[in-house]
Amino acid sequence: MTAFPLRDRLSATTDPEIVLAGCGLRGMGLLTATPALLDHRLTVVDAGPRPGPGAFADYRIQSNSAGTDFFGWVDPAGPFGPVLDDPAVRRLREHQGAFDLALLAGALDRFGDRLAALLPPERLIRGDRLAHVATDGATIGLTLASGRRLQSRVLVLALGITEAGHDALAPWAARTIPSGRIVRDHLAALPPMPAGRPARIVIAGGSHSAYSAALVLADAMDAGHLNARVAILHRSPARLFHQNLADHAAEAHGPLEAVPDPARDICPETGQVFRYSGLRHRARALFQEIARGGRPGFTQLRIPALADAAELLDRADLIVQALGYQSRRLSMTIDGHPWDPAGGGAVVRPGPDGRIPLPGGSAAQIFVMGMDPYPYDDGALTPTGQYALRGGQILAALARLAAAGQPLPLAEPG
Ligand SMILES: Cc1cc2nc3c(=O)[nH]c(=O)nc-3n(C[C@H](O)[C@H](O)[C@H](O)COP(=O)(O)OP(=O)(O)OC[C@H]3O[C@@H](n4cnc5c(N)ncnc54)[C@H](O)[C@@H]3O)c2cc1C
Repeated sequence: MTAFPLRDRLSATTDPEIVLAGCGLRGMGLLTATPALLDHRLTVVDAGPRPGPGAFADYRIQSNSAGTDFFGWVDPAGPFGPVLDDPAVRRLREHQGAFDLALLAGALDRFGDRLAALLPPERLIRGDRLAHVATDGATIGLTLASGRRLQSRVLVLALGITEAGHDALAPWAARTIPSGRIVRDHLAALPPMPAGRPARIVIAGGSHSAYSAALVLADAMDAGHLNARVAILHRSPARLFHQNLADHAAEAHGPLEAVPDPARDICPETGQVFRYSGLRHRARALFQEIARGGRPGFTQLRIPALADAAELLDRADLIVQALGYQSRRLSMTIDGHPWDPAGGGAVVRPGPDGRIPLPGGSAAQIFVMGMDPYPYDDGALTPTGQYALRGGQILAALARLAAAGQPLPLAEPG
């Protein structure tokens, strides 16, 4: 995509000061934790039909988090405060135990409605995708899939994560589907299975996605809709959620289970073990059931590398890839040069100031809001504090730009 000529100065009435690209949980978390961002000329661009639910609208599985984890960061007295009283939001936050992710999607939808009421209609762009970013000095030019163009001083990327084909499964690509397909479409995601014998299914990976897919298969087997033998391949020990270290100590642990490192794996807020990355609820129960040999048709194997299971993979009718997610990407041109925001890796990682480190000391203010898969690899165990942290960093950047002499009035001239 070719860059378009950027104007030196932005219009103080029509150009946004901030563009938020992507408004699922993380984008919405940012805005609801730091509503002061709406006092600046904010434009929200989302590829989907509505801001808020993001990927959760498609996950037909249970959570690996608790209802109380969400929206504690919203100030009841702030512009998003009234949404906390919405029945859909209360239902989520008061829910005990496992919940269908549709409940979270519904609550996020309510915050999306509130955002739509708070923003002027022309500043909420739905059903259009940010396709290209080009910078010239501090100015950021955005091209949307529709061809529409915007210029801004600050860009926040909250585009979420995606499950790309994994190189290690390339030899079996024709028989491999991503776990997300099963999580979304359940049995409809499966190709035709062999008649007259159990289908041989291998799930590559041992995360929440892997056990969510395994649960879909287990339920179908219990209901007599699927005849299969399922092998789950663990490349590393499985993390299991525990309420606290004492609960962990009181339980027996099998050889496939990860041993928590108190310095790294205990949530400083709650004391919970593997708070976000650990298997919970039915996924955890299924893991334990299989581990003690109590689930006919399911086995777990610990393998150092997928190639060690080549024989099993060769014989499989279907391979479910559950080897993790990577950041959703988009193409960028920074001061005339093509740039990969993930720096050749899988994840778009911000620096300590919340911005993508750009080449040549570019002055462009491009922030990232959590485009990393769980568990957070930026050292944080919980996302809650990240929203407010990032919001504060963005407000500080706007203040710096204003101090540098390129202020944009906060209010449209009347
Ligand atoms: C199977 C599974 C289960 C999970 N369960 C949980 C759970 O129980 N609890 C939990 O907290 N987390 C869970 N997660 C993690 C979950 O994916 C993230 O917490 C959540 O979806 C992240 O929100 P997000 O806003 O980063 O991404 P998304 O929800 O994917 O939102 C991204 C948004 O960006 C938009 N977008 C994408 N590309 C563009 C573009 N180019 N331009 C404009 N807009 C764009 C999309 O339309 C979407 O609205 C789970 C993940 C998986 C895979």
